[in-house]
Amino acid sequence: MSKRDYYEVLEVSKSASADEIKKAYRKMAIKYHPDKNPGDKEAEEKFKEAAEAYEVLSDDNKKARYDQYGHAGVGGAGGFGGGGFGGGMNMEDIFSQFGDIFGGGGFGGFGGGGGGRQQVKGSNLRIRIKLNLEEMVNGTQKTLKVKKMKMAEGATSKTCPTCNGSGVQMKVMNTMFGQMQTQTTCGTCQGIGKVADKIPTGANAQGLIKDEEEISINIPAGARDGIQLNVRGKGNDAPFGGVPGDLLVIVEEEVDKTIKREGDNLHQELYISFAEAALGTKKEIPTVGGKVKITVDAGTQSGKILRLAGKGLPSIDSYGKGDMFIHINVWTPQTLNKEQKEFFEKQMSSGDMVAEPSGKEKTFFDKVKDLFN
Ligand SMILES: [Zn+2]
Repeated sequence: MSKRDYYEVLEVSKSASADEIKKAYRKMAIKYHPDKNPGDKEAEEKFKEAAEAYEVLSDDNKKARYDQYGHAGVGGAGGFGGGGFGGGMNMEDIFSQFGDIFGGGGFGGFGGGGGGRQQVKGSNLRIRIKLNLEEMVNGTQKTLKVKKMKMAEGATSKTCPTCNGSGVQMKVMNTMFGQMQTQTTCGTCQGIGKVADKIPTGANAQGLIKDEEEISINIPAGARDGIQLNVRGKGNDAPFGGVPGDLLVIVEEEVDKTIKREGDNLHQELYISFAEAALGTKKEIPTVGGKVKITVDAGTQSGKILRLAGKGLPSIDSYGKGDMFIHINVWTPQTLNKEQKEFFEKQMSSGDMVAEPSGKEKTFFDKVKDLFN
C-alpha cells in the first residue's frame, strides 16, 4: 500500500498557495464526487485520496510536518491496524469537514442511491488531546468533558409532511431528452422522514440542545503526534431517529522538558559531579518504560554519550525500537568552601591532576558520527 504524494494527488506544485490548493481540491472533489460516479469504487478512492491530501495541505501545521517528514509526519503511514488510526478518512468525515468547499454544503443525496429514508448521522466533533511521551508509548485512559449537541429532553417528532416520511422528493425536469424524473433528499427533513413536533425551550429546530458529557477515551499504546482516534458514537446527537456522530480525538505531543525526541530515538542530559566523574557512580534514568539503572564508569569525560539500546520509541514503520541516548555533562562546582578550595589548590600546585588527553579521545564530530552507526 504505497501512498501517493499529496501534491501529486492534487496536481499542484510544492510551492502552490493555499488558494491554489483549495481550487485544486475543489476540482478533484467535483470530478470524483460519488454523485457523479455512482458505484465507481476507483472514483470513490480518488475522492477520498484528494480529501486526505487536502486535509493535510490546507492545515499549516500538518503541511509543514508533511513537507518535512512525508506521510510518516502526519500519521498517514498506516501501520496502526484497527482503531480507526492513521489518516484514513471516511465519507462522512469528508462531508462534515469540507462540505463548505462546494459552496453552501448543498450536497444531498449521497449514499441514498436506492431511495428511501437515510440513516442520518449526527455531526462529528473534533478535540485535541495533549499526551506526554510516556502516555503515547504505553497508552493511557483520559476522561474529558466534551461540549456537544444532545437531543433535548421532552423533544418529540412527527412524520415529515413534505415527504410523508419517505425522506425523498421526486422532481420532474424537462430536458432535451424529454421529461426526466429525479429523486432528491427531502429538503424539509434532510432525509430523516421526521420533523420536530414539540421543542423544549433552549433547543434548536432539530430538538438538539448544547450539553456537556464526560467521555472516557482509551488511547492505545504507540500513539504519535498528529494521529487521530475515532470514538464511535460520541459526537453530536443526530436529529430524530439518527445515530450520533463520532468524536475525533487528535493526539498532540506535549513537549518534554527532560527527554527530547528525534524520530524513534530519545535524548536526555545527565549532569554528574566532578567526584562522580572521577570515581564512577550509578544513576537512575527515567525512560518511557520506567526507570533504568546505568553505570557511569570511573574517569568518565564530559560529553560522553551512553546508548541504551531499545529504550526509545517503538518504530512506526517496523517492529523495532529506537534507542535512548544519555549525554553526560560533568558539572564544575561554582562555589567552593574553604576545604574544597584548599584541596583543589593543592592538586593544582602539585601537578597531579592535569588534563592529559591521549589523542584518542572522541571529538564532538566523532560522537555524532557514532550515533548514526
Ligand atoms: Zn421529509
